Amino acid sequence: MREGRSTDGTDPQERGGHGSARAAPAPGGRGPQRCTAYLPVFTHDTRSPRVVFGAGSLAALHDEAARLGLGRVLVLSTPGRRALAERIADRLGARAVGVHAEARMHVPVETARRACGAAADADADGCVAVGGGSAIGLGKAVARDRGCALLAVPTTYSGSEMTSVWGMSENGEKRTGRDERVRPRTVVYDPELTLELPVGASVSSGMNALAHAVEALYAPDASPVVALMAEEGVRAIAGALPRIAVSPAETEARSAALYGAWLCGACLGATTMSLHHKLCHVLGGLGLPHAETHAVVLPHVLAYNAPGAPEAMAALGRALDTAEPARAIQALAARLGAPRSLAELGLAAADIDRVAELALRTPYANPREVTAEGVRGLLHSALRGRAPVPAAGPDRA
Ligand code: NAD
Repeated sequence: MREGRSTDGTDPQERGGHGSARAAPAPGGRGPQRCTAYLPVFTHDTRSPRVVFGAGSLAALHDEAARLGLGRVLVLSTPGRRALAERIADRLGARAVGVHAEARMHVPVETARRACGAAADADADGCVAVGGGSAIGLGKAVARDRGCALLAVPTTYSGSEMTSVWGMSENGEKRTGRDERVRPRTVVYDPELTLELPVGASVSSGMNALAHAVEALYAPDASPVVALMAEEGVRAIAGALPRIAVSPAETEARSAALYGAWLCGACLGATTMSLHHKLCHVLGGLGLPHAETHAVVLPHVLAYNAPGAPEAMAALGRALDTAEPARAIQALAARLGAPRSLAELGLAAADIDRVAELALRTPYANPREVTAEGVRGLLHSALRGRAPVPAAGPDRA
């Protein structure tokens, strides 16, 4: 297992080489899907938790814990989700040994230590993490420390429950790594638990999910199956978020968003992320907020990468029903109230050279060659909240 640094909870450098798997182009880009006669060489290597999905599926949690042979389960959440964590502990009955509601964003080392201590004191043989990436991240820390099973009950759309990526922060820096021990054994997706997720958190975790699927579409280790999941994930999330913004308690829209979250999270867990995640990582290091930065940067990186990723653009065109996916994603973010410019988030024009330099210093795999001039250009567009500029010409890295 290797370790890396990230503000994102993901470390794209943790996975394989570049350039093996690209789906055959869909001629014309849009229109009905067709079966391709030709497929490129690819490796498909994904491991998935057992997934239990649907309104009311929380009722299955007790049996799922029993299925894993767990008899002493610690329930983890953020302080804000304590009531739900206690409800879950009640459901688990004698199989629950307590509730530890101290999860925090980016899993501070001290928070992880306390949770591992609570699990040791209770002699827990497993844990249930209920909430978003923060609670699930804490569950991963306990699973890694004790080698015990983790069950996840996600209540946001960010997708950590589908990955083997763990993260921990200390002194403003985040270490991440991949470790199969932290991948949840079972994930229970119950849309009824997301009805109260505020619109802002729904949008930010949903845009985060979208970014994972977009970069999975042109990832060096994508496969045709991952591409199908990514396209469907984008379709589901992009369709659901505007409905949630209008009617947050609509179960059908919540269900579609959680379905999208599952697929986008699975894509993140299966592939290596590229330039977009690298830039967000660097910008996060300068103190820009994580989710909002994703929403602003994604359309610009997508426009930059478009010439090197025609199949990805075609898939996004189908998913978003548009000939211009980058502009459509920017319009979606604006419609959902996400910020449009990096200037709004605190970036200054004078920072751009430094960001470009850091992004190029240890570049991630990318479908198009990453040049200083190109990165500076897209950052200037993102800084001012301009429409994404389509890059010209075919160009594969
Ligand atoms: P979060 O878990 O930080 O939750 C945001 C807030 O929403 C919290 O206060 C939480 O209590 C509250 N909340 C959660 N569900 C709710 C609900 N249903 N109703 C009302 N309130 C609710 O947000 P997130 O975006 O899911 O997670 C972000 C974290 O996850 C970051 O640290 C990020 O790095 C990490 N992450 C990790 C991975 C991975 O694979 N390891 C993937 C994505 C994100």
